[in-house]
Amino acid sequence: MKFSKEDLLQMRFDDPVPLPEPDDDDDDDDIFEDAEECCIICGNEIANLKISFNEKEQLYKYECANCKTIYVMPENARMKDSVLLQGEERDWPAYLQETLAFPFNAFICESNDREFFDPHYDGPRLYDAVKVLEVFYSLKYGVEAVIRKGRKVYSQILCFLEVEDFDSRNYEEIENYKRWREKYWLSDFLVALADWTKEARQEQDE
Ligand SMILES: [Zn+2]
Repeated sequence: MKFSKEDLLQMRFDDPVPLPEPDDDDDDDDIFEDAEECCIICGNEIANLKISFNEKEQLYKYECANCKTIYVMPENARMKDSVLLQGEERDWPAYLQETLAFPFNAFICESNDREFFDPHYDGPRLYDAVKVLEVFYSLKYGVEAVIRKGRKVYSQILCFLEVEDFDSRNYEEIENYKRWREKYWLSDFLVALADWTKEARQEQDE
């Protein structure tokens, strides 16, 4: 972003907001473009955000009533291309640990490879009902949950869980987190992973 926060606070965002373009290119080199757009801080659905536009600079200003954040970014950009005018970045593991009401009931909504390929696997499986005890930071998965199934305790990727009570705050917070993770965390993580793999391969070739 070539503008500072001060520049952007002065900038006018009063041009008509363009309608989204129909998605017609199939040979898309950005496989993450299809992830659902959402608030860069809290994962709120983009339809719930107030959007304004500066046509000359092709910049959008987003105001999220859910997390009280205001930010500016080009269309469908990454988080690093955005500037926060109000609010701050979220420490998701700490935020969820503090905000969610524990324990709560959930079920497994995605299967893992081990349940199919490991004959000794006795952990949670797709559609199992579990109790979520707490969440913690995970370098590999972003946030993981400590869950109990029967008498045993396991850790599980938070995104593999769905809160049983659809009307609860827990449900909303976790669905927002999933949306945010897919759009802004997972993509950056996989891009970094691809870069590391490329570097490692180049080192091998030398
Ligand atoms: Zn938000």
